[in-house]
Amino acid sequence: MTGWKSTMELAGSDPNWKENLSELLSGQQWSDEISPVVNKLKVGQRLNLEDGLKLFHHADLFELGMLATSSKKSRFGDNVFFNSNVHINQTNICVLSCKFCAFSRTKRSKDAYALSIEQYLAELEKYSSMIDEVHSVGGLHPDWDVEYYCDLFSSIKERFPSISIKALTAVEIKHLCKISSMPIDQLFKRLIDAGLGSLPGGGAEILNDKIRDKICFGKETSKEYIDIHREAHKAGIPSNCTMLFGTIEDLSDRLNHMIQLRELADETSLFQCFVPYPFLPDSTRLPEAQLSTSNETLRTIAVSRLMLDNIPHIKAYRMNIGDYLAELALNFGADDVDGTVGRESIMHLAGATSSLDYDKYQLGKLIANAGCIPVIRDTKYENFSPYVIKSPQRPRRLKVINTEG
Ligand code: SF4
Repeated sequence: MTGWKSTMELAGSDPNWKENLSELLSGQQWSDEISPVVNKLKVGQRLNLEDGLKLFHHADLFELGMLATSSKKSRFGDNVFFNSNVHINQTNICVLSCKFCAFSRTKRSKDAYALSIEQYLAELEKYSSMIDEVHSVGGLHPDWDVEYYCDLFSSIKERFPSISIKALTAVEIKHLCKISSMPIDQLFKRLIDAGLGSLPGGGAEILNDKIRDKICFGKETSKEYIDIHREAHKAGIPSNCTMLFGTIEDLSDRLNHMIQLRELADETSLFQCFVPYPFLPDSTRLPEAQLSTSNETLRTIAVSRLMLDNIPHIKAYRMNIGDYLAELALNFGADDVDGTVGRESIMHLAGATSSLDYDKYQLGKLIANAGCIPVIRDTKYENFSPYVIKSPQRPRRLKVINTEG
C-alpha cells in the first residue's frame, strides 16, 4: 500500500466516522448498563458529563474497551500511528516548583543544566538521521527570553531542515511573553518564523484552578492554558493537549477538563491529539496523590476517546505508561504511540520505566502485537505511510567448537 495525505484539521481521520461508528455499534450487542450511552453515539450525539461518569463507573472494563475501540476504528480502521522522534529537554532550571515535578532544579542545584545552542545541536545530531521530529520542553529559565528560542529554532532549521520542531508548553509560552515583554501574537510570529512547527500540549495538568493552586501553584490558569492554545491555532500551528490524572482530582474534574478542551476544539479544529497520562510519584512532593492503577489508566484513555469527538487522535504515551500498558491501550481507544523517542528526562525522573531508543521495528511490533496496523506519520498528521515490519539484519556468530584432541 502506498502512502496518503490528509489536512491538519482532519489529521488522517475518516470524515464519515460518525456514520461508520453508527454501523459498527449497531452490529454488536451491548449491556443494558451501557446501552443509553451507545444509543447516543449511534445517532452522532455528543456525550455529556453524566455519560462520562457512567462510562467511568461501568463495571465491565472490556466492554468499555470495545466501545472505545469501535470509535477508534470508525476514524482509522485498524491503523495505529507513530513517528520517529527524540525528546530533548533544553534545561531543567525552572523558576517554579510544581509539586508533581521531579525534573525542575534551581539555578544553584548541583545537577542543574542549561544546554547551549551548540550542545543542543550536538545532541540532536546523534539522532538526526533517524528522526523527523524533535520534541523540546523544559523548565522556565529565568534568563532565556524569546531571543534564545529564536536562535535555537533557526539554528535547528539551518542544520536539520527536514526535522520538525514541536516545542514549548503553555506555561513556557506565558513565561516567554513575560520576560520578553511581548504580546502573545507577536511571540508566536517570532517563534514560527524561526521554525516552531507545533506545540506538544504539555502542562494542562487538570483544568481546575483550585486543584492547580495545590499541585502547581504559579503555573498558568486553566483559562490561560486554553487561551494560549487558541492563540497558537490562530497563528496557524496545531497542538496536542494533555491531562495529568491521578493526583488529587476526581472523575468529574477529569471530565470537565475534557469538556473544556472539546469547546476550544469546536472553535479552532487544531487540537490534533489528546495525551492523557497518570501522575508518576518518584522524587515528587505530592504524598496525597491517589495514583492511578492500570485499570484506571485504560479506563481514562477509553473515556477520553468517547468524550472527545472533535480531537482525532488519542495517544498511548509510552514514555509515561510504559510499553506493556501502551500496547493494551491500543485496544482501549488509543490510536497513536509516541514515538521512537531516543532520549527523555521528565517522565523517567518521575519513575517511568519505558525503554528509550525504541526503533521503528520494535514500535511496529508493539502495534502489530496489539492486532493493529503500524503506520508512520509526520508531526502534523498530514502524511502517512504504512510501515512494513522487517526483522533487522543482525550478524550471526556461531561458536566454533574445537573437537580435536
Ligand atoms: S512542571 Fe514545568 S513549570 Fe512546573 S516545576 Fe516542572 S519544569 Fe517548572
